[in-house]
Amino acid sequence: MSVTRRVTDRTTTDDTTPQRKIPSMCQHQPPCPTADSADREAAALVAHHPEQGWSLLCNGVLLFEDTGELLPDGRVIAPHRPLGTDQVMTAA
Ligand SMILES: [Zn+2]
Repeated sequence: MSVTRRVTDRTTTDDTTPQRKIPSMCQHQPPCPTADSADREAAALVAHHPEQGWSLLCNGVLLFEDTGELLPDGRVIAPHRPLGTDQVMTAA
């Protein structure tokens, strides 16, 4: 009995493709710089929340409006806005 097989053939790949909206692979051209790159802020914005003061870049970097950054591996980059004041930010 191979009736069930014929039924599954009719189903489209919509149900079986395990595609999720995880920005793990950059699909921009040219590709965005990685989170480890010094150029990381040049990555494309995938989410922008000015009311909350942060943006999410394509490479997984969280960019805060004070120019601080949170890297996908958990590292924190202190704000580096060009104010001239050399403040050292100690995180926790
Ligand atoms: Zn990208």
